[in-house]
Amino acid sequence: MPRLLLLPGDGIGPEVTAESRRILDALALPGLEIAEAAFGGASIDAHGVPLTDSVLEEALASDAVLMGAVGGPKWADVAYDRRPEAGLLKLRARMDVYANLRPARCFAALADASSLKRELVEGLDILFVRELVGGVYFGEPRGIETLPDGQRRGFNTQSYTTSEIRRVARVAFELARGRTGKVCSVEKANVMESGVLWREEVQKLRDEAYPDIALSHMYADNCAMQLVKAPLQFDVILTDNLFGDLLSDLAAMSTGSLGMLPSAALGDAGRPGLYEPIHGSAPDIAGQGAANPCASILSLAMALRHSLGAADAADRVERAVEAALDAGARTRDLGGTLGTAAMGDAILALL
Ligand code: NAD
Repeated sequence: MPRLLLLPGDGIGPEVTAESRRILDALALPGLEIAEAAFGGASIDAHGVPLTDSVLEEALASDAVLMGAVGGPKWADVAYDRRPEAGLLKLRARMDVYANLRPARCFAALADASSLKRELVEGLDILFVRELVGGVYFGEPRGIETLPDGQRRGFNTQSYTTSEIRRVARVAFELARGRTGKVCSVEKANVMESGVLWREEVQKLRDEAYPDIALSHMYADNCAMQLVKAPLQFDVILTDNLFGDLLSDLAAMSTGSLGMLPSAALGDAGRPGLYEPIHGSAPDIAGQGAANPCASILSLAMALRHSLGAADAADRVERAVEAALDAGARTRDLGGTLGTAAMGDAILALL
């Protein structure tokens, strides 16, 4: 039986996850078991920690975890290692989800909301595959030290091993096979040894196992320019943790609102995936029923496709979101007046 764990979390997290739950109920997928648990600040309030051992075990025993958002001013003074965000980092690490999938898709109905001209973004559908658990954010040694002359020195280490590069590249190649078969691998091999290794290993894996994939390589600074100048040239972009963080945010914003952007984090085949909107808990609008639920609903679609073996249901959900936007359904962040539940109603009606 496929199993989905919902972790609504804090702020607008429960509001948007409730709309995904309504979609799930309407889909009525045979045999899908759905559970729900407290996570983040809600778990701190109930159990004193952001992620209890039993919720962690439940997540690891599921096929997919759909998270809402965590954090907020209420928990800002909690000790660093017990903050809601610490729970999320622990969950990602324990699930060993090393491939972060971030689609940057521009819905035709929202093309005018982009910061780029309509003709540059209409039809845009890029999938970033970002390495998530290695690179400079995790590399050792790291720290801030005081030098003999009294200056302070801050340092981090960018490091990737062959296996870290190959496992995330494999995810990108596999996903590209279900799309246009094009992968652009991005690094800075011109100035970084880790980039040289990245380029060599990605090319080697492509030559060994994915000859059908059209692989190109691009330096990260050029990629930033190209994403603004001619983003339609890209399909799958494979990159490391740091460049992926920056470039996927850059591309995402050219597609419209934060409230539209889903994400997935995947590990090895057969292991559970973690799905979540890109946005946070939005304390400024929490409790108002004004949040856009699309990012959560599109994250659910990714879970259906990548972890729950329900690609048809995923297509249905994505088509319903697109049709609702085409019909003019708009939450406040999209320049409209619909509340969270009314946007959910508009999508449900077209499912
Ligand atoms: P945020 O994403 O919560 O909000 C940024 C802005 O976007 C706000 O004005 C908000 O109202 C708006 N917004 C966000 N999602 C929206 C939606 N679905 N519909 C309409 N408008 C939306 O970022 P922030 O304000 O920097 O962070 C708030 C809290 O969320 C912090 O505690 C932060 O640590 C946490 N956070 C959590 C995650 C996560 O759970 N993965 C990610 C980012 C931030």
